[in-house]
Amino acid sequence: PRPFSCLLNHVLNAARGNSRAAFSLILINGPLGAVPPGQRKDLLRMNKQLRKAVIAGNWKMNKTPSEAKALLEEIKPLVKDAGCDVVVCVPYVDLCTALEATKGTNIGVGAENCHWAESGAFTGEISAVMLKEMGVQYVITGHSERRTYFGDTDVTVQKRTRAGLDAGLTVILCVGEYLEQREQGITAELVAMQTKIALGGVSKEELKRIIIAYEPVWAIGTGKTATSEQANEVCAQIRKVIADLYDQEAADGITIQYGGSMNAKNADELVAQPDVDGGLIGGAALKAPDFAAIVKAASK
Ligand code: PEP
Repeated sequence: PRPFSCLLNHVLNAARGNSRAAFSLILINGPLGAVPPGQRKDLLRMNKQLRKAVIAGNWKMNKTPSEAKALLEEIKPLVKDAGCDVVVCVPYVDLCTALEATKGTNIGVGAENCHWAESGAFTGEISAVMLKEMGVQYVITGHSERRTYFGDTDVTVQKRTRAGLDAGLTVILCVGEYLEQREQGITAELVAMQTKIALGGVSKEELKRIIIAYEPVWAIGTGKTATSEQANEVCAQIRKVIADLYDQEAADGITIQYGGSMNAKNADELVAQPDVDGGLIGGAALKAPDFAAIVKAASK
């Protein structure tokens, strides 16, 4: 059962943003007493409804500008009635095209990385300030491919996250374990540590511009998906880390995605989990019908 103050927070938050949800919450919890164990599931589901699910495509190093335009023209009509937030994170060279193609639509545009300095002698790098001035809204930090192939560490991920926030971007912060670490039984500790380091110095107010993507490295681009139970378990553990670092209100409000071979077939089950608020999608984001099917799954 959740403590009274925590339930009260839920209701107050809900009332601020969504009076229907607040009303339902009161109905579920009666006079705001402790929640009987049998109703906990309902409460979790209600909390989920108060959060915005986000489906974000991570195009990685795919699509030239002309290919990007063609793909976005295909995606646009398919997701125009989405009941979740829709984002495409594209290679730097596609950003102008993507911003132009998505103008006036419900699709947000993000970059796949940013440097931590505003400017300077960092050949080949792009700063968050540059992205912001272009009109980019999102940036991914800490993707496992950056950590694995390009030497990103928890500390540089923290610096990139800081830079993204300072520039006014929403940061999609990726965390996740290697298969060896899962087999060692240290997933929860590892993901908690990655999350805590990356969020060092991030205020509760700034946390509203953080989306966390739980991406088990063994599931990225491999066709191996975490089971919905595994995905939900770790997303719930991350939410607990947020509650410990900030408070329950922050934990209930933060969007935590799952990423790792999510596709048109498995999306329904994954995004229906109470602690999974959408997904970060690699391969399936490059096919308009598949991406749209995932958006549809997260819109339910
Ligand atoms: C990703 O790149 O973040 C990702 C989840 O890739 P995929 O969906 O291809 O596993």
